[in-house]
Amino acid sequence: MYDLKLKALAVSLCILVVDSDMDRRQRLVSRVLEPAGYCTVEAERGNVALALAGDCDLALVYHRPLDAISLLPQFRSSQIDIPFLLLTDDGSEALAVRAFRTGVDDYLSSPYEADHLLAAIRAALERHIERRLTRATSTQLLNENLELTKYLQGLDRVIEVSKEIAGDLLVEDLLKHVTTAAAIVSEADTASIMLLDDDKRNLLVRASHNLEMPVASTMKLSVAESLAGKAISTGLPVFVNGEDDQKIKTSYFVKSVAYVPLAQGGEVTGVLAVDNRVTNRPFTPWQVKLLTLLADFASIALSNANLYTQTRQDRDQLNAVLRGTEDPVLVIDDSGRLILHNPAARTLFGIPDNYDGPADHVIDDDEMHLLLVVQQPQRAEIVIDEERAYIAQMALVPGVGRVIVMHDITALKELDRLKTDFVASVSQDLRSPLTAILGYVELLSRAGSINEQQQMFIDRIVMSAQSITNLITDLLDLSRIENANLDAAPETVNLAAVIEYALATVEGQVRDKQQHLTVQLAADAPLVYGNPQRLKQLVRNLVLNATQYTPECGVITIRLSDHADLAVLQVEDSGIGIPLDEQPHIFEKFYRASNVRSEYEGSGLGLAIVRSIVERHNGRIWVESLPGRGTTFTVILPAYVNAVSVSSTAWRALVSAR
Ligand code: ADP
Repeated sequence: MYDLKLKALAVSLCILVVDSDMDRRQRLVSRVLEPAGYCTVEAERGNVALALAGDCDLALVYHRPLDAISLLPQFRSSQIDIPFLLLTDDGSEALAVRAFRTGVDDYLSSPYEADHLLAAIRAALERHIERRLTRATSTQLLNENLELTKYLQGLDRVIEVSKEIAGDLLVEDLLKHVTTAAAIVSEADTASIMLLDDDKRNLLVRASHNLEMPVASTMKLSVAESLAGKAISTGLPVFVNGEDDQKIKTSYFVKSVAYVPLAQGGEVTGVLAVDNRVTNRPFTPWQVKLLTLLADFASIALSNANLYTQTRQDRDQLNAVLRGTEDPVLVIDDSGRLILHNPAARTLFGIPDNYDGPADHVIDDDEMHLLLVVQQPQRAEIVIDEERAYIAQMALVPGVGRVIVMHDITALKELDRLKTDFVASVSQDLRSPLTAILGYVELLSRAGSINEQQQMFIDRIVMSAQSITNLITDLLDLSRIENANLDAAPETVNLAAVIEYALATVEGQVRDKQQHLTVQLAADAPLVYGNPQRLKQLVRNLVLNATQYTPECGVITIRLSDHADLAVLQVEDSGIGIPLDEQPHIFEKFYRASNVRSEYEGSGLGLAIVRSIVERHNGRIWVESLPGRGTTFTVILPAYVNAVSVSSTAWRALVSAR
């Protein structure tokens, strides 16, 4: 390896030949050294040799007439560290011993061959280069080791800081932490975090370490014209180590400075800056690497902290809105835990202020329990203490759970009751004159002969009076059903028998339209508890609708089955169906869907009566319908075993089974 190095260096290797005998000296140069490729410098005397030796790689010194050996200590004390070869014509053992003791690298006594001399030169040079290399390598290794140790210490610090800052959820704390760490790992006088302003043209200091307040608050660097801006536009670290002071801005000079970009969401938003204003210490590439690492951690932590701040603000806002909302609001997570409740909800259900447990432990209402389990958005009417009525709307929010917003409808309910009472009393008042009209119309024919046209008019009067009577009957029925006190006392009822009685009253209509009526009554269908007349009316209304809204030759199926402690009645038809967006309204009084209004006659009271009957019997009703395909009404009633109300377990089981 050294051969190669020597060969490569041979052209530039320079040998100092010191000899006061000029002939001998020149012979040596011209016959031996120059032909071997060395360049030479000649000196006659010791002081000249000392002056020239600094630029040479080896000294060949002739002993006598000079005292060559005495020259060597002078070389060494002048820090001239080149191989020193002694040549002599009158060698002796004593001279050789003296020479080696003084430290000459080699000693040649004449006669010697030119090759012999060249080999000695070469060997001395090789040894010297080897020594130097070893010395250089160990110094370099030592330096590198030192650097590496510092880097590893810095790395430890960065890792330590990154763990700490991961827990910093407040932006200000985090930024402060990062600047302190930046100053430590880069051994800088000052560190700061500068973020872009709103229009992204300037960088402003957001946090700093060791930077006087007035400087920090007025420091503003233009992205277009500053070194910091270069880190922003390239997305790469920038550092400058200069001999002279660098101007960062007016009256802010530094000896060395480094800027490392900070990025959030793939966009550079600022820089981590360090500088040495007082200490004349450059930033090493290792330190810049550490700063880059720190900046990366800081960027992630900053995004988290910003997100946290934003979330906290949003939550505070939401809390403020919820606190101010008069409607009770409850949020329940997927495991059924009540995670949010506003004061209105707390007052309504008596929930303790900081309650954070299962919702059904603090909400004691069957209807509400149902909203806690169903798997689709649902509305329910909730009556609290038989005094206040609420509409509770439950929505499923992915990732959150279910949100229940309740609206107080007590006043509306009262209004509704007043309206029903009013309608009932008006209907009652209309009934007597109507009965009189019908009675007198019947008597008309007895009072004298009536021609054909008069008979036609009489028939029309009878029909119209009849339909008004039907309407009034419906209205009176409704008010009687809604006001339980006016209705008959409940008894045990065989629903299968009720269905058969009801069907007997609609047979005619079904036959007229040649519809296929199928009845499937489970042999063990349970008894229910209630009013048989009203239950018959319920079945009749549903089947009348089925036949009315199903074309000729359509199919109608009636099923009665039991499910746990419930009697389940279904009336299914293959008729015109109900438009989807209108389905929620069909149980309202006088509501008629848009696809029937012009073609079919009706008062819009049938289903309102049905719903009231179902409610009076503590049951449920719902509709499933596809326009053009058909409609199914399902009614569930508590079996007589429970008598009072649908047990919430049975009800939940049925609803979740759907
Ligand atoms: P109506 O006297 O109009 O039949 P109801 O209260 O019985 O009043 O029904 C309300 C509305 O519900 C009807 O007008 C109709 O639009 C719709 N509807 C009820 N039952 C059916 C059914 N089986 N098929 C299609 N639509 C129906």
